Amino acid sequence: GAAFQDPERVRALATAIAQAVRPGKRYRFMEFCGGHTHAIGRYGLAGLLPEAVTLIHGPGCPVCVLPAGRIDAALALAARPEVILCSYGDLFRVPGSARRSMISARAEGADIRMVTSPLQAVTIARDNPQRAVVFFAIGFETTAPASAAAIKASLAAGLTNFHELVCHVLTPPAMAAILAEEATAATDVRPRLDGLIGPGHVALITGMAPFDRFAQSNGRPIAVAGFEPTDLLQAVLALVTLTNEGAARAVNRYTRAVTEAGNTTAQALLNEVFEVKASAEWRGLGMVADSALALRPAYARFDAEKRFPCDLPPPQVNRACRCPDILRGLIAPEDCALFGRSCTPSDPVGACMVSSEGACAAAYAYGGRR
Ligand code: SF4
Repeated sequence: GAAFQDPERVRALATAIAQAVRPGKRYRFMEFCGGHTHAIGRYGLAGLLPEAVTLIHGPGCPVCVLPAGRIDAALALAARPEVILCSYGDLFRVPGSARRSMISARAEGADIRMVTSPLQAVTIARDNPQRAVVFFAIGFETTAPASAAAIKASLAAGLTNFHELVCHVLTPPAMAAILAEEATAATDVRPRLDGLIGPGHVALITGMAPFDRFAQSNGRPIAVAGFEPTDLLQAVLALVTLTNEGAARAVNRYTRAVTEAGNTTAQALLNEVFEVKASAEWRGLGMVADSALALRPAYARFDAEKRFPCDLPPPQVNRACRCPDILRGLIAPEDCALFGRSCTPSDPVGACMVSSEGACAAAYAYGGRR
C-alpha cells in the first residue's frame, strides 16, 4: 500500500542508508527473489542508493531456474494421448529444447490446460476419469504446500488418475550454492557478496529458522524483505549495518507478514507429502545438494514420472542465451547479445525473459541498473 511507498519515508530510508555506509567501503547485496528484482526495477530503487551499494539480482525465479530438460519432460508427457497436462500460465511460453514450448505443443494438438491452482487440476482429473491428469508442480517453498494439498485432495476423493510432475525446489540450498561459487576459481567475475535480501514469500511459509541456519553456516547476513519500496530499503539498511558489524545474522524486515515460526500448517503438509531429494539440477547453478522435493514413497503412485517413465535425450539449449550466467548474478541482462534484439518479452529466447519474475524481463520493462 501507499504507506510503504510514501516518498518521505522512502527518502528518509535512503538518507539513513547513505549515512550508514562507511567511507571507502563497497557493499554488494544479492536479492535472491525475482519478485524483488521486479520491485527494484519498477520503483527505481537502485537509483536511490549511494554509489557504494550495489544490488545484484539472484536466481529466485522458479520458472527461470527450471532446467530445459524439465520442460522437455512435461512436453513428452503432454504428447501422450491419454494425458491432460495442467500448468500455471507463466510456464506456457518457456522454451525447452529447440524452442518448443507448451504453447507450440498445444498448437500441435497436445491437451495442455492452464490452471491457477493445483486443486483445479484435481477437479479436471475427477471430471475426466478416462484420462490421466498431470499437474506440472513447480515453485519454491511458497507453492509446494498447495501441490501437497492437491495430492491429499485427490487421495481423499479416491482418484487414481491424478499425478504430479514434481519440480519443486528449495531456496536456502540455492543461496548457499551461489556463495560456494565464490570459492572457485572460475567465478572471479562476480565479487564477493556481502549479504542477501531474503525472499519474503518463501519466509511466510518457512519462518525464519532456515534463514538463521543459512546465515550461520555461510557467514553472511540475510534480511528477509517484503515487496514495497520501504520494505526493500529497510532490508538494505539492515544489511549495511550488519555488514559494518561483521554480523552474519538473519533479520526479519517483513514482520507484518513473516513470523518466526512461519506457516506451520503448510510446513506439516509439505513434510507429510514431500521429502528432500539428495540433489537436483537448477538452470545456471547445475546440481545442487538437498535443493529439491520429491514425493515420499507412500505417495509414489502420484508421481507422473513413475507412472509414465520416459528416457529423454539431453536437452538442446540455445548457447547464445546467457540465462545461466544471469541466474548466478555474473552478468546483467544487457550484457547478453540477444537482449532486446532477438530476445524480447513477446518473442523470448530464454526463461529469464519469459517469466514475470525473470531478470531479463525486469531489465526490459524498467531499464538496467547502471
Ligand atoms: Fe536469455 Fe534473452 Fe536473457 Fe539473453 S536476454 S539471457 S537470450 S533470456
